[in-house]
Amino acid sequence: METVLLTVDDFVDNSENYTQAVHLLNDGQVVAFPTETVYGLGAVATDEQAVKKIFAAKGRPSDNPLIVHIGTIEEVNRYVVDIPEIAKKCMAAFWPGPLTLVMHVKPNVLAESVTPGMQTVGLRMPDHPVALKLLQTLKKPLAAPSANRSGKPSPTKASHVFEDLQGIIPCILDGGMTGIGVESTVLDVTLAQPVILRPGGVTKEMLEEVIGPVLEPNFEQQKIEATPKAPGMKYTHYAPNAPVYLIEQDLQIMQQAVQTLQQQQHKVAVLAPENFAAVNADYYFSFGHEYELEQMSANLYDALRACDKTDATIILATTTERKGVGTAIMNRLEKAAGGNWYQY
Ligand code: AMP
Ligand code: MG
Repeated sequence: METVLLTVDDFVDNSENYTQAVHLLNDGQVVAFPTETVYGLGAVATDEQAVKKIFAAKGRPSDNPLIVHIGTIEEVNRYVVDIPEIAKKCMAAFWPGPLTLVMHVKPNVLAESVTPGMQTVGLRMPDHPVALKLLQTLKKPLAAPSANRSGKPSPTKASHVFEDLQGIIPCILDGGMTGIGVESTVLDVTLAQPVILRPGGVTKEMLEEVIGPVLEPNFEQQKIEATPKAPGMKYTHYAPNAPVYLIEQDLQIMQQAVQTLQQQQHKVAVLAPENFAAVNADYYFSFGHEYELEQMSANLYDALRACDKTDATIILATTTERKGVGTAIMNRLEKAAGGNWYQY
């Protein structure tokens, strides 16, 4: 299959490219498109055969549910049994935006594979002109996970999608680099107290201002049996080929670590803020300005993916404060590293 890249920016009339994408989607095909978080791989969420193609293209385990993207808030009624007050407040405050709300799904409306064996569905309205225009032209919901091969870091550029899915999907809408760079916050509002199943661009602090106390289990608590879980949490995520080790943001510790590993014949890739550029690693990929969390989240997956184009045998990634979007960054880094820290 040939994979075509269609440019969709604000500067030229792209209506024909949208028409082509909508035609493919209505024909039961999958299309990759940019959102404000990462690139998504979309299929019409009511078309079971189309949704199955997402799982096949990604190599995604079939018990991992998909987030359904909608173009207007009003559509929620079509897919959800009763919308909790808390959810309404969240929609008013954060939609369109990087917040997925898990609610009770209406039976027999969405394709079965979207919510495999579950009574809930994750819904969100993305805040990206291309995603919104696509949804509003299509006038149908799109089931869309991140547009990467399962297990790999999510794509923040059309070229990342192309690397992973070239020859496997028919079309990628290229809207440039995504803004936030990590996936949406997933908030379960079906429980007595809302629970963050996955941290993202809408932070715990932001949510609590609108809806009061929210639970956010940490990496260790997530392993405990009684903690509510996102069904996808058991799978490997965001992992480059070489093993990743977390290391604190300290120049001296980093320098020492690189030296020690090189003496053990390792080729070392360092992922860290700009002020680490002078460290004598074999490869260095920048997280952006020191202490600028938005730059770190925007650059994170590009940096992780860049390691796969090197012969690095080990990756050292600096950590950050678990505050604001730092919580989402640390969540992805811990998964990429399988919880491993560099021991010195
Ligand atoms: P991805 O599509 O790769 O961005 O991952 C979507 C995330 O949302 C996964 O961790 C899913 O497990 C989670 N998710 C999607 N739908 C639901 C749902 N109905 N209930 C709980 N978590 C969900
Ligand atoms: Mg994903």
